[in-house]
Amino acid sequence: MNAIAEPLIAAGPSSDGLPRIAAPAFDRLGRPLRDLRLSVIDQCNFRCTYCMPRHVFGADYPFLRASERLSFDQMVKLARAFASLGVEKIRITGGEPLLRRGLEALIERLARLTAASGKPMDIAMTTNGSLLASRARALRDAGLGRVTVSLDAVDQGVFRRMSDVDLPVTRILDGIEQAQAVGLAPVKVNAVIQRDVNDSQILPLVRLFRNTGVAVRFIEYMDVGGAFDWSNATVLTAREIQAIVESEFPLVPLPAEREGATAVKYRHASGSGEVGFISSISAPFCGACSRARVSADGQLYTCLFATQGTDLNPWLGDAVPVEQLAESIRASWNARDDRYSELRWMPRKPATGKVWPTVRMSLIGG
Ligand code: SAM
Ligand code: SF4
Ligand code: SF4
Repeated sequence: MNAIAEPLIAAGPSSDGLPRIAAPAFDRLGRPLRDLRLSVIDQCNFRCTYCMPRHVFGADYPFLRASERLSFDQMVKLARAFASLGVEKIRITGGEPLLRRGLEALIERLARLTAASGKPMDIAMTTNGSLLASRARALRDAGLGRVTVSLDAVDQGVFRRMSDVDLPVTRILDGIEQAQAVGLAPVKVNAVIQRDVNDSQILPLVRLFRNTGVAVRFIEYMDVGGAFDWSNATVLTAREIQAIVESEFPLVPLPAEREGATAVKYRHASGSGEVGFISSISAPFCGACSRARVSADGQLYTCLFATQGTDLNPWLGDAVPVEQLAESIRASWNARDDRYSELRWMPRKPATGKVWPTVRMSLIGG
């Protein structure tokens, strides 16, 4: 497909130092660039078996050295470039983002940015929640808008087996409670469901968060980098998960909030609360995918399943104007035709059911 014509937007004077770029970025399939997932660190204090299994991510694993990670100045420059291309939302992720020292200082700077539409930049974070309770207030004060906490189980034994850490689940629940208490809104819980591993946790998770204001979203287990034991048989589809939820809690569909949203959302028919399903295996949503990902070492990935990124480091030095960085990102986005999830079952995939050597999830952050 040919590149589509890019509609012009008004290039007005910029109050926050944003470069005056007149056109949002579109890819080869006509998808705009709207969201940035910015990974701030590739290390994590969990060893979730589906993401960073301990036998692979051991003490000798070659994680990025501190000197290889982007500085906050570089991240802010990146964010400004992305904002000028149409990005309105930045999700901070990792590894475990709260392991990055001084993260609040970065958030404070990102939260001051304005999207090209004139709206304030929407700053979100995905975290395993283990360090959230003591940091929630400072994160909120810095300008974090909302938080998604990954929690795959309520049962201590299942949580322990999946996260491979010795932490009480209550520590994560405290984090969620604190996030709500300081006004981070909405607070969401993401649970990756694996057949015969934590499907027993679907109803307990829904029971726990119903009537609390915390939205629960169930995610199909994906064949991303790090999911070494993935096979089709390990996937519980969104439809199957929903049937389990509805065996106890009837749901009513909610309208999609915006194009490109990953979750199909429902509300409880009785009682309050939202439940969502993310079906990237059984019902891919590549057609509206507007997300770019930048790893902690400055590689741009245009798909979660990319095998290779584009190195942005040459444009991140002080001497290079942010406009040039933006144009190099635009060039990558213009060339993008990724739709891995839609093509997953095409013959180019090896029939072995083995995971492709795609970038590891803990480097780009999901
Ligand atoms: N450490 C943080 C956390 O766990 O929230 C942020 C990074 S983590 C890579 C981001 C999200 O990716 C988590 O919600 C995690 O459950 C999800 N994830 C990791 N591997 C996955 C897989 N194979 N399939 C589906 N989701 C996965
Ligand atoms: Fe760490 Fe998040 Fe991966 Fe679990 S899913 S190992 S918490 S990066
Ligand atoms: Fe987006 Fe790639 Fe996922 Fe499709 S497979 S929704 S293009 S990240």
